[in-house]
Amino acid sequence: MGTVVEGTTVSLVGTKHKATGPLLVTHWGASGPAILKLSSYGARYVHDCDYQFPIAVNWIGLTNSALVAEHLQGIVDSNPRKFLTSVHPFGLPTRMWQYILQKTALGADKRWDELGKKGLNKLVEALTNDQYKVTGKGAFRDEFVTCGGVSLSDINLNTMESKVCKNLYFAGEVLDVDAITGGFNLQAAWTTGFVAGKAMAL
Ligand SMILES: Cc1cc2nc3c(=O)[nH]c(=O)nc-3n(C[C@H](O)[C@H](O)[C@H](O)COP(=O)(O)OP(=O)(O)OC[C@H]3O[C@@H](n4cnc5c(N)ncnc54)[C@H](O)[C@@H]3O)c2cc1C
Repeated sequence: MGTVVEGTTVSLVGTKHKATGPLLVTHWGASGPAILKLSSYGARYVHDCDYQFPIAVNWIGLTNSALVAEHLQGIVDSNPRKFLTSVHPFGLPTRMWQYILQKTALGADKRWDELGKKGLNKLVEALTNDQYKVTGKGAFRDEFVTCGGVSLSDINLNTMESKVCKNLYFAGEVLDVDAITGGFNLQAAWTTGFVAGKAMAL
């Protein structure tokens, strides 16, 4: 809890959705930019899965297993008698590294030269393809922006007037428009509000 791992890549297993960035381990689950972006990209998919789906975390952002193995072998060669816990590969935070060792059942009392090929492969897998099962989402109103809403195909985008109901205008969050955080949602709300306001005043 409270650990941030920079430069992760998180993906929705079995889909093309993935997002990169820091991952924050909170007291209730996973958060941080990588998770927020992924939940935005895959919003419809995760909804269809009723928020029960597997994710794969690459804790180090490196996807080439051979390179990861090479890096770990480099640690074995230069620190053979050091304990696994005392050298953190890829600058992982201490607690995250300890957790990964615990998860892979590689004892804290093991030294790097006792790792062996099997142990090294286990670590490569845990660092690059660490799978978790998502079992729910944050509470309603916790979200920054919601996916879905009034379909853009039912709106005249030059005026924001409904094509279905004359003199009814839509703007902002109520529309089926959403984006990752960084100002895009606010911009969408302001821009569509401006266009709708101007059209209504005519
Ligand atoms: C915690 C958080 C962080 C965010 N961070 C970002 C960010 O970094 N970048 C970004 O781009 N976007 C961000 N957003 C999203 C952004 O704030 C929204 O997309 C944007 O404010 C939507 O504007 P809106 O006017 O359409 O809707 P809202 O801001 O939701 O305004 C709707 C208003 O209608 C009122 N209302 C609701 N029902 C009724 C009713 N029946 N009668 C009268 N009034 C009613 C509500 O009280 C509210 O004041 C964030 C949102 C949250 C919650």
